[in-house]
Amino acid sequence: MSEDSRASTGEATQVDSLDEVFSSLGDETRLEILLELAAVASDQGIGEGLGFAALRERVGVTDSGRFNYHLGKLTGRFVTKRGDSYVARWPALMLVAAIRAGQYDDTDLTPERATTEFTCHRCDRALEVRFESGTLGAGVLMYCPEHGGMDDYRFPPGVRSGRSAREAMRVAYTRLLENVRLARRGICMECWGRVSTDYVPDTPDTESEYEHQLEGQIFVQFACERCWNQFGVPVRTYVGTYPVVAAAFRKRGYQQLEATDAMTAERGITCEDMLVQEDPRRVSVRIGFDDETLVLTLDEGCSVVDHEWC
Ligand SMILES: [Zn+2]
Ligand SMILES: [Zn+2]
Repeated sequence: MSEDSRASTGEATQVDSLDEVFSSLGDETRLEILLELAAVASDQGIGEGLGFAALRERVGVTDSGRFNYHLGKLTGRFVTKRGDSYVARWPALMLVAAIRAGQYDDTDLTPERATTEFTCHRCDRALEVRFESGTLGAGVLMYCPEHGGMDDYRFPPGVRSGRSAREAMRVAYTRLLENVRLARRGICMECWGRVSTDYVPDTPDTESEYEHQLEGQIFVQFACERCWNQFGVPVRTYVGTYPVVAAAFRKRGYQQLEATDAMTAERGITCEDMLVQEDPRRVSVRIGFDDETLVLTLDEGCSVVDHEWC
């Protein structure tokens, strides 16, 4: 059996059994149980739980038979017994994390905007950030009041709570770069699957204003081979996740996000990327600091295979 057909057979079986898994969650009391057990894990440690009576009390169900029925529906996949304690398993904890992030909130983000410390790469204006509920869900958008959108990212409403607009924007930006960092090592941030990396052949053919503005820059495109995770970034953003580049910026006092901003907007540095060979494809990125220039060479698989200082 080929790997492909094995994967698709696996998927069909999985959907069958998932039907049962998700229907076991379709009840308020059961979700309350998971939230309470996750709270215990948070307070006392992962793997810690509660006895039947204590758990029933925390969930607030008086009828012990009814509570036992609901708990039984979760036991196995989501909850396990350790001695006399009921303990949340990873599938329960991951579900609660998604709930806490606000992934399933039906309330939308309050539209809000704030000025960031980052600058537009076409003018000197500070970029603004806007939180908004789009067609696909809540998102965060960085944009120049004059030149339009620069970057956007999905943004579950839970990210915003307890954080200022600027902090929340930095969280989204940092996570985007983590996604790049993992993807370039072939790991999907969403499903842990394998990610393939390629150059965008020419100028990205999309209606996005952002990409039109970056016309002429080389882009790297990531696609998870298993889930939906796929995105493109300018090659200069991509190389910024390599330790040699990060260290060069750190030495000069730049934090991660400031370094990315400096490369995109060419503030305080110069940055030049070019295709130096077509077949096999070789790309060169030159980052000019005050005192010296870092030249990176990327191979056809978008890996940095060489760097030199000159
Ligand atoms: Zn601008
Ligand atoms: Zn994936």
